[in-house]
Parts: sequence; structure tokens; C-alpha cells
Amino acid sequence: MSHYGPSRELVVDVCRTLLERGYLKATEGNVSVRVPGEDTFAITPSSYDYGKMEPGDICVLGLDGRQILGARKASIEASMHAAVYEHRADVSVIIHTHQPYASALALMERPIPALFDEQVRYLGRSVELVSYAPSGTSFLKKNVTKKLASGANAYILENHGVLVLGGDPEQAVHNMALLEKVALDYLLALLTDGRAEKVPLPIREIAFQKLRKDEKKLAAQVEEACAAREAAEARAAQETAAEESRAAAGERAPAEDVVPQPAGPATPAGPSGAQLAGYAISRYPDVPDVYRRLDSLVSQPLRPIRRAVMDGYLGYFDDRCRRSRELTDQAMELIPGGVQHNLAFNYPFPLAIEKADGARLWDVDGNEYIDFLQAGGPTVLGSNYEPVRRQVAEVVEQSGPVTGLFHEYELKLAELVNRLMPACEMFRMLGSGTESVMAAIRAARAHTGKKWVVKVGGAYHGWSDQMVYGLHVPGTWRFEAKGIPFGATSRTREFFPNDLDALRGKLKQNRRLGGTAAVIVEPIGPESGTRPVPFGFNAAVRELCDEFGALLIFDEVVSGFRLGLGGAQGYFGVRPDLTIFGKCITGGYPMAGGVGGRREVMASFASGIGGKSGERAYIGGTLSANPLSCAAGYFAITEMERTNAPVLAGLAGDRLTAGLQRIIDQHDLPFVAYNQGSIVHLETTGVMLLDLKHPLRFAKEMKPRKHMMEEMGAAYTASGVITLAGSRMYTSMADTDEVIDDALGRFESVLSSVEGA
Ligand code: PMP
Repeated sequence: MSHYGPSRELVVDVCRTLLERGYLKATEGNVSVRVPGEDTFAITPSSYDYGKMEPGDICVLGLDGRQILGARKASIEASMHAAVYEHRADVSVIIHTHQPYASALALMERPIPALFDEQVRYLGRSVELVSYAPSGTSFLKKNVTKKLASGANAYILENHGVLVLGGDPEQAVHNMALLEKVALDYLLALLTDGRAEKVPLPIREIAFQKLRKDEKKLAAQVEEACAAREAAEARAAQETAAEESRAAAGERAPAEDVVPQPAGPATPAGPSGAQLAGYAISRYPDVPDVYRRLDSLVSQPLRPIRRAVMDGYLGYFDDRCRRSRELTDQAMELIPGGVQHNLAFNYPFPLAIEKADGARLWDVDGNEYIDFLQAGGPTVLGSNYEPVRRQVAEVVEQSGPVTGLFHEYELKLAELVNRLMPACEMFRMLGSGTESVMAAIRAARAHTGKKWVVKVGGAYHGWSDQMVYGLHVPGTWRFEAKGIPFGATSRTREFFPNDLDALRGKLKQNRRLGGTAAVIVEPIGPESGTRPVPFGFNAAVRELCDEFGALLIFDEVVSGFRLGLGGAQGYFGVRPDLTIFGKCITGGYPMAGGVGGRREVMASFASGIGGKSGERAYIGGTLSANPLSCAAGYFAITEMERTNAPVLAGLAGDRLTAGLQRIIDQHDLPFVAYNQGSIVHLETTGVMLLDLKHPLRFAKEMKPRKHMMEEMGAAYTASGVITLAGSRMYTSMADTDEVIDDALGRFESVLSSVEGA
């Protein structure tokens, strides 16, 4: 065998791998490998079945096009391969294949923008289109050459297929898998973000058909390919960087044998209410059972309200909500989308609210509702609670709402936070949860000197540039990041909810790339516990953070004070480095935000006296910590303590959930009710449980499931119960047994009218 033997074997190896994984078919495409140290390369022959291919069939060519070896004619794309090797010294393996997803993008003439960090790292900033030229022509070679300078490793050829490059065979196959994943996800985003009608029907059908056949296989392949490379990288990184990072950053030595147990089905339900007096959760949900029920819900056909009944509910809005419609129609002219608050986006149109008191709301048409929105969570005492309103009014009467100077209630509120949540050794008041997340991440980066931030896929942590990543739906990276430059999210990563192994993987990768500043989690699970965490999850995340020298940030915007005055950190017994506050921190009054945490981290914010110039993490805000907000927070939380409001609200949540479960059982419905104290979930569609691990289901079911959820919300409203988007409810101290029983009667009439009930 000549010295070309190993290169020819490599070509066959790469072809077999691609064939097995479904990236190459029959005779389409071509693969080549650069012969080390020479101006030659080994390439597949023209129109020859990959299934039969042997090393002896592989051709060897010079970069000048001369065929040196091989009984068959080399692939007609050989000149394109030669051009790549000539212009890109870093490339040693080239794959050209007509794999389906990127090909669809070629037909649509759409390059793939920068969607997520792995893509940019391995494939290049964007996957560009190479202009059309017939196969095998010098025009195609020229068009490809024009693009090579970008250094990217993947291109979509307009004459079908893709060109994927790598420094070695493993890298090239990895890049191929990554391109497949990126192309598939981008295609799904295009198909599902409301612009599906712009995607030509034949392409939609090809994508769906292909997906239907390949979904499982593909997901496994992509994961396998990516995981193999990530594992290899992590191993290499560990060897080279462990010493260095341990010494330099003072991290604890990686202790592979003390991996926190991933909390799986074996996780026992949490402690009982007796053990945890003072918290809103009387018994922690049986998390594996909740997921089993949710999975079963998502795997079943939708069970909407019978059409005629639903039309009746919609008729309510036309007949009884005329003034609301007039006002919100007018608002459409002046306010983008007609509403200022995301929670007000209600179907069929938003209601205009005139009065709120305790557990009830009244709209401008005089209709009365039971209020389970409770402004999205801040009012554990009930809406517009009189004793707090009176005391706040007294403060405002005296000092006005703001002076810009220090006010005693700032101190009083900080003392209160510190007493109830001792992990908050210091506290800084801000204007919103969003601002507070920004501030906490800034402090974490300033304190640790590291850049990466890891969040849970699907979690909402406000709308700052760096956090609009993997929003609402796990695995969607930058799908919602319109108007946000790539750089703003380039140091944010997401991991799948509850997947501690995935979190560990991200932390390992980040360690090689400079380290993780912080892991941010909502301790009850993303979206107020819509995907609840196993009881031991937070403690396991704490351990991982300690192991990798990252700060742990608890986003307690929803759970803070609502779950109990000690917050989720008190309930779970886990001490975060930083805590984000919002909502309850001002009891429903404006400018609700704050960060609390370890003294030395919080010192990053120090301004004025004692702050070292050039070292502080800059934050500000004209209205931050104004007397109105601080006094409102102080009075509301003090009142919550006096009345035991979080526990009472939690009991109302328990009663509501138990009643909903009874209705579900009576009518044999697939719906799922569960609660974490005063946060009650009623899933009738499971739309929030869709994710990109199941792309076909996501693509097909997102819209109809979302629409049914809107309809359920409208039916509850028409029956006199306001919920959050038709699937979540916040209870308050004002929810007496009578209020809950009244609400359950209304739920009964809606739920008994679903199809098949
Ligand atoms: N984090 C979580 C968990 C939230 O639920 C929210 C708001 N719903 C935020 C952050 C953002 O807070 P804000 O709306 O005050 O900016």
C-alpha cells in the first residue's frame, strides 16, 4: 500500500460515519481528506455507492487537479475541494452533502444567523449562502472561494446541500452534526414563529415528512455527536486547565466522585408542613408524578371546550365588555399592541380594570371577577390592602414619593430583608426584577472576574439583553432575541430544566473558556414552577457552583416572601450568594426590585464613601429606593408577618388545587393541577411543556395548544375568574374558603364543558 493508504482509509471512515448517521445517502455528495504534508488530497470517486466504498476506490488528486491514484474518476466537485485546501490551511477534511435541513434553507435562500454560542464557536459567525452555480463547474469553485476568507466551517450551497469543514475527521463530523441541529432549529423557528405561511408549502411538507421519519434518530445522533466532542473537550480542558484554574481562581479541586445525585424519579417528596412551619407549601409536590401527568397530557389530543359553549363564552366579551373593548381598541392606536403589560394580552381582547379589592376585581363595564392574577404575584395580602395603603399614604403625604436623598425606610426595609433572609447580608433596592438581575450578574462578574452566566432553559429572568436567551421554551437560545446584538448573549448559556449533568457539562466547558460567574435559577423551577424542580435540585446546584467557583443567584422575584417570609432559600434550606427580589418587595407598589447577598459580593456596588474608583459595578436609577416603594415594602412585609399571610395564601392554594383535582377526576380529564403553596398551576394543554428536544411536536402543536390555553383563559374570565394566561393562579390571604369554593363552582362549569367530559 502507498503512503496514501491512511488518508484513503480516513475518507472511507468519515463516509461510513456519515452514512450511519444519515448525513450521506447513496451516491450524493463527496468527502475528502488532505494528505498530511503534501499538496494532495484523497477524495471519493464520482457517483459511487458509499455503502460499497473501500479504501482502494478512493482517488488521490493534486491541488492542481491532476489525478494521482484511483481507477475511477474523482468526484466532480474535486476542484471545489482543491480550492478549499488551497485557501484554508486550517482545513484537513471536507464534507459536501445534500443533507435535508440546510438544503431547505438553500431553497429559501436564507443564511443561518448567529443563533447560539456553540454554533459561532465551531461553525462561524453565520452560515452563509454560496451563490448558485452548477455542480462541478469553475463558477461554483469561484463562488465558494469568495466565502472562505470568513474562516467559517459551514456553508449552504444554493445549488443544494452544504459544505462542512474541519481540522480533523472528528471535528468535521461534529461540525456536520452541529449544522444539522442549527439548520433544523432555525427551520423550526421559521415554521413556527407566525411566519410559516411565508415558507413555501412543499418545503414545509418536506421538512415535516422528514422530521416525522427521523425525529428520534436525529435527536440521538445530534446529541451523541455533540456530547462526544464536548466530553473530549472537557477532558482535555480538565487536564490542561485544572491545575491552573485551581491555583489561580481558588476553586475547589474537581471532585468527580462527589457528583450531586441528579434528582430523578427516586427523589422523595419534600418535608411536611409540620417540619416547615411558616412556609406556604404544606407538602412539596411529588415532582416525578407531576411530570408523568404532564407528559401524559402532552401526548394526548387536545380536549378543548365544546365549540357551541366556547362561542357562548366569547359572546360574553361582545355583550358585557363593550367599554373595555372601546378603550383597548383606542389604545391600539397609541400603545404598541394596545397594552403596556404582557399579562394584559388577553384573548379575545384585554379587559380594562377599574377597581381592585382583596380577592376581587371589577372592570370598567361593572363586571366582577375573582382575581387569581393578583398582578402576577406581588399582593400576598390581597389587592389594594387597606392598612398598607393608609401607612404608605402617610409617608407620601410627608416626604412625597421621591427626593433622591436617603430615607429611613430604605434602612428599615434592608433590616427586614436581612432578618428574614440572613443570606442577604446587604441589600440594594432597584426598580424592577429585570434591573436587579442585570445588577446581580454585573456584581457576580465583577466579583469573580469571570464572564459566563448559566440559566435554565425556558426560564424568565426579565428582559435584559443577556437574559433574553432560551426564553419560555428550553433549547431556543436566541429565538426571542430580536433587536439584541449577538455579543450581548454570547456569554449566556442554558441547560435543560432539572438536568444537573448538563449543568455540570456547561460549567466544565466554561472553565476552559474563562469560568462561570454565576448560575441563575428560579428555586421553585422556571416560570414560577411551571416545570417544578425536584426537592434536592437547589442544593445540588449549590454544590456544583461551589465546585466550579461560580456564584449561585436565586431569582426570588416570585417566590420571595410569597413562599414564606424566608423565601425559597429558607424553604429549601439553601443559601444563595445573591438573591433577586421583585414583586413582593414593595407589596404591589411601584419600583419593585432589589438584590441582596454576601457582603463581599454586594460591596461591588459600593458607591460614594468607601467605594474604590474603577472597581465598582455601576448601577443606578432616579427612582431606586424612593420612600414610597421602600415604605410600601416595609409595611407590606411587616403586615404579612403579622397576619401570617404567606401561609394563609398557601392554604387557599391547597384548597383550590384539591378542588380542581376533584373536578378533573370526576370528569376523567387529562388536565393537571398542582401547586407550590399559593402558586397554582392548572395545565389543560401542556403548552409550556413543549421543548426543542421534541421538535416535531413543538412545530405542530405549539400554536393549537397555545390557542386552546387562550380559550380556556377566556372561558374562565367569562365565568368570573381571572387567571394568568389561562394556566396559572396566584392566591392571596384574601382568598377565604368561600372565595375558593365560589371559584371552584365556576371552574366546574367550564371544565365540565370540554369535549368528552
Ligand atoms: N424573574 C422572574 C422569575 C419573574 O417572574 C419576573 C417577572 N415576572 C422577572 C424576573 C422580571 O421582573 P420585572 O417584571 O419586575 O422586571
